[in-house]
Amino acid sequence: MGRSYRTYLSRKFFVCNSCNTHVALFAHLRSKDYYGAFGAAALFEQLFNGIALGKEKEEMRTGRYVVRRILCCHCHSNIGWRYERAYEPSQKIKENLYILELERVSIRCEE
Ligand SMILES: [Zn+2]
Repeated sequence: MGRSYRTYLSRKFFVCNSCNTHVALFAHLRSKDYYGAFGAAALFEQLFNGIALGKEKEEMRTGRYVVRRILCCHCHSNIGWRYERAYEPSQKIKENLYILELERVSIRCEE
């Protein structure tokens, strides 16, 4: 009998640096290969405890998008954005996904 290991992905999560509000689950991380307004960023399926601002058109390196800024619901720190619409066919996969600014959050692990 070998040793068995269990992984509790749902217990790894991200918190807002300013107020410790829980904002994302590690299990929802799709890719860390992104850049946000403040540096390193990551693509997530879902964010929590965010306030979505109005739609804005954004010109990015990969094309034009309609996005909504996401603020932490508690301290209003700018933690990322949601892709509402991608104009480039190759970027459509990002629609309805979220960018989390990794400079504005910290990872936590509860045992
Ligand atoms: Zn906050």
